[in-house]
Amino acid sequence: MVCAGIEHKIGNHGSPTCTMVYGGSSEGAVGWLVGEQNKGLQAMFVMVNAARFNVGTESLAMSERAYQLALGYARERVQGSLPGQRGESVPIIRHPDVRRMLLLMRSQTEAIRALAYLISGARDLAGGHPDSKVRRERQAFVDLMIPVFKAWSSETANEITSMAIQVYGGMGYVLESGASQPMRDVRICAIYEGTTAIQAHDFIERKLVRDSGAALHAWLADVDATLGRLASQQKHELLDIECNLRKGVELLREATDWARLNYSRRPLVVLGGGVALIQLCGIVAGGWQMARAALAAIKRLEAGADQQEFLRRKLLSVRIYGAHVLPQVSGLAVVAMRGGDSVMAMDDAAF
Ligand SMILES: Cc1cc2nc3c(=O)[nH]c(=O)nc-3n(C[C@H](O)[C@H](O)[C@H](O)COP(=O)(O)OP(=O)(O)OC[C@H]3O[C@@H](n4cnc5c(N)ncnc54)[C@H](O)[C@@H]3O)c2cc1C
Repeated sequence: MVCAGIEHKIGNHGSPTCTMVYGGSSEGAVGWLVGEQNKGLQAMFVMVNAARFNVGTESLAMSERAYQLALGYARERVQGSLPGQRGESVPIIRHPDVRRMLLLMRSQTEAIRALAYLISGARDLAGGHPDSKVRRERQAFVDLMIPVFKAWSSETANEITSMAIQVYGGMGYVLESGASQPMRDVRICAIYEGTTAIQAHDFIERKLVRDSGAALHAWLADVDATLGRLASQQKHELLDIECNLRKGVELLREATDWARLNYSRRPLVVLGGGVALIQLCGIVAGGWQMARAALAAIKRLEAGADQQEFLRRKLLSVRIYGAHVLPQVSGLAVVAMRGGDSVMAMDDAAF
């Protein structure tokens, strides 16, 4: 086994990716059959699912890093004064659009983290719960969520880390500020262990079509229960998350049913909208977690629990997710159901 060369990459420089040549310099390599013949792909998927989850948590880490960098800079950098308040220049964190970017980075990172914890817990239960019914249910949830989590977290992390550069302004584009490192490092997360398109394919074919949407509908019943609890709170600050999550769930049901029913006749058209579909599912899953966080925060605030400030900030983060992230579901659902036709309409030679 010979290392034929180290790759020069745009990021992830701590990991020396290289080309390995097996048996290149002598009589060739010997391969051994490990496990049962023709069951290799199944065995590989045990590893691949774990790796896909880990790539999601890598995306989470890079998002958090980007947020912390951007936040530090936004507090330090003094530039421009606020309209209507003639006077001295202010730290950029006081400008509405910088606040929007920071809050968007923060709330989406929190949503990704919450889903990561939930999937992680479900993996433990799927492997070790004494009741076989619980093990089966949790495994179905994990299998459904792995491609969604991998695709949504890595694509969102690409946006979050790019936003950090925007917060830095021109200095973000200058290497020495360090603002671009998370973006360069995280770019690979939407590619390795299967690109986003491959996750979408897996989601549609293996997770929706194969079980007729059973795992998805079981999960959405849990989301409905959360929506019921949100509605009973009747709190003004929960209005955005409740209305837009409800809309998201409705559109996700419609778009996934459409994908499932059309896949056998028009698979290419369905796959043409597949990335929008999996992103829609990820945004809804993140919104569900934020809604659950809001309910937990309200309960603890009302009980006078510790960390009141943390709990109030959590509610603000949830509001941002409800008002800025969840509204994307309407556009994504249209692309998921109507976008594939136009993608397949152009013949290859016309590109
Ligand atoms: C830094 C780094 C580390 C890596 N580490 C490892 C490792 O440790 N082990 C390992 O085995 N591999 C590793 N890889 C390989 C990595 O998993 C692949 O690069 C990745 O899965 C994408 O495959 P590909 O490069 O062949 O791209 P391609 O498959 O050629 O994809 C190119 C484009 O075509 C699209 N595409 C291809 N097929 C389809 C399809 N069926 N449907 C829709 N779109 C499609 C893709 O989405 C993408 O946009 C690594 C790669 C890098 C860059």
